[in-house]
Amino acid sequence: MAPSDEGVIIDLDIIRVYKLNYYKDWLKNLNPNRNKTGRVIRCITKDASLIAMVMDSTAIVAEAERIHRPSAVVTAGLGRLLTAASMMGLLLKGKDDSLTIKINGGGPTGTVMAVSDSGGNTRGYAVNPIVEIPLRTDGKLDVGSAVGKNGLLYVMRDTGGSEPYIGCTPIVSGEIAEDITNYYANSEQIPTVCALGVLVNPDLTVRVAGGILLQLLPFCPDNVIDRVEKNIASLDSMTSMLDGGLSLEKICGRALSGFEFEVLDEYHPIYRCGCSRERISRAFAAMKTEELMQLPDEKGITEVTCHFCDKVYHFTRDELLVLNKKPAEGNN
Ligand SMILES: [Zn+2]
Repeated sequence: MAPSDEGVIIDLDIIRVYKLNYYKDWLKNLNPNRNKTGRVIRCITKDASLIAMVMDSTAIVAEAERIHRPSAVVTAGLGRLLTAASMMGLLLKGKDDSLTIKINGGGPTGTVMAVSDSGGNTRGYAVNPIVEIPLRTDGKLDVGSAVGKNGLLYVMRDTGGSEPYIGCTPIVSGEIAEDITNYYANSEQIPTVCALGVLVNPDLTVRVAGGILLQLLPFCPDNVIDRVEKNIASLDSMTSMLDGGLSLEKICGRALSGFEFEVLDEYHPIYRCGCSRERISRAFAAMKTEELMQLPDEKGITEVTCHFCDKVYHFTRDELLVLNKKPAEGNN
């Protein structure tokens, strides 16, 4: 029986769930960080030595948590990767370009993947969303052990050409931010500072999430690098700054302490999956008929679940055959 505002609710558990959801929504509305979209500001120093992006990705990571229901450590790992992908997506040059980051370090969570468009709208998943491992000795979620350290971080940019650009570097720690920094230094030769953070509530919802990506522009003098490194080392964690109510502009001011800077632009990316029946149909159309005919279950139905948004699509055997443009071979 569905709970309603005025109806009689007989199931005690439903009442409990209903009340809990009601209070969660109420708290959500009270918390100013719980916006419906992420927010990113892009800044440049007046001496044009570096650019900075600062992001509040709480809404995006919260949506990922709502869809995938991962354990806390996977929410943290996936949330960090989604935040990085969103900011890296904003660095894409073409409007229709997209970026995919994939990391697999042999840890229990398996491959973690995030895809972003040029507006920073992103989606992602972890192959094993439920991983329970002890906290680190400093009390933090052990993302590095969940992801693992033996493997590669891939970054793929699809810029509309025949082949996507693919770069990859060995995983440094599996903690994501370090791995992104290492990727930029070694695969793209761009000195980069990256900080990412996700704070998970005891009820496994996302309290805050965010990140910083700083990149030195060409011909940047050495003393700039030293100063930025000092700033970042003395910076509080991204989640404690966001949770403490600091604005993105103030956080940027701290990261760029000693520099004059201006805000170039601002974005409001969301968690967005582009899956559709048409897209899946195209994939089926490209398959060999023999392979395609092994997909339906005993009732003749093929079920496809989108990894990114958990949406379920059903195709009948006949629909598959029509897609494959082959005669129905007496199956009617
Ligand atoms: Zn989807």
